[in-house]
Amino acid sequence: MGIRQGSCTQAGISRGFVQAVGRTPLIRLGLLSELTGCEILGKAEFMNPGGSVKDRAALGILLEAEESGALQPGGTVVEGTAGNTGIGLTHLCNARGYRSLIIIPETQSAEKIGLLRSLGAEVRTVPAVPYRDPNNYVKLSGRIASETPGAIWANQFDNLANRRAHHASTGPEIWEQTGGRIDAWVSATGTGGTYAGVALFLKERSERVRCVLADPHGSALHSWATGAGLHAEGNSVTEGIGNSRVTANLEGAPIDDAVRIDDQSALETIYSLLWREGLFMGGSVGINVAAAVETARRLGPGHTIVTVLCDSGDRYRSRLYDAAWLSSRGLSQPQREQIPA
Ligand code: PMP
Repeated sequence: MGIRQGSCTQAGISRGFVQAVGRTPLIRLGLLSELTGCEILGKAEFMNPGGSVKDRAALGILLEAEESGALQPGGTVVEGTAGNTGIGLTHLCNARGYRSLIIIPETQSAEKIGLLRSLGAEVRTVPAVPYRDPNNYVKLSGRIASETPGAIWANQFDNLANRRAHHASTGPEIWEQTGGRIDAWVSATGTGGTYAGVALFLKERSERVRCVLADPHGSALHSWATGAGLHAEGNSVTEGIGNSRVTANLEGAPIDDAVRIDDQSALETIYSLLWREGLFMGGSVGINVAAAVETARRLGPGHTIVTVLCDSGDRYRSRLYDAAWLSSRGLSQPQREQIPA
């Protein structure tokens, strides 16, 4: 209790996992900055102690549940997750004396599912079915939470504690790290917590910060954000982003522009980050950074554009970094010589 993200009791010392969440570096992506004439900056969320941007949301949700009294000592946190929220929640549950029960679509990477089990979560994999189906993993997790004594449902998609965590920590950090010199904020959305929390904060500081929603194929949000309604086309191998609906966390967030990125472009982007910047990143980072580059093209040189480096490539080694898996999905593994020097 009384613990806030980004707060330390003593300079330089974090009290456990909880206080180690946040205050991530903002990394300048050198090659892409040079190619575009813009400053392309990535918020290094993979450096959170649980390894992803979702540590912040998980912590915000847990602290609010403790403060409201909904979560009692020894209680259980139930969540439907593509993996990273479950990983963050499970670390936090271990640190604070709770149990975690995670419902995850069986289509998510073996690395994330295996890691959840290693961390001690009770994991139930379920078939991936659309949101309208009562057995969709999110709806199922809500039902299981209501039937489990002493459990709360984290409900990351529609629990506004998620975006409040980003409004209170990620947004202020970006503003501070850029000294307020930021022209555009670009991010894909899964729950919308990261995009909306940061966008709302930045717009409060300066109306002129352009907020750009990045989206993979197979998601309905690009079409929605550009005024054509909720329509999805195609599909994507990226995990944790895109949606068929507007969540409570995304609702009301400022959106000035939207960019859709295909998987092959996202792949080329993460391989370029690996080979030219030394950054080993997950698929959503490919969508984010490629959308930041497209935003740089739309705005022209001389602008500062911030996006998110959500998680590490380690979580997708058997997929995005495996030539055979990629080719089974109709994608080709980028070759070193194709990436601009
Ligand atoms: N990238 C990855 C890898 C994720 O797991 C998530 C969360 N589902 C996101 C991006 C999107 O974050 P948010 O839920 O805050 O929209």
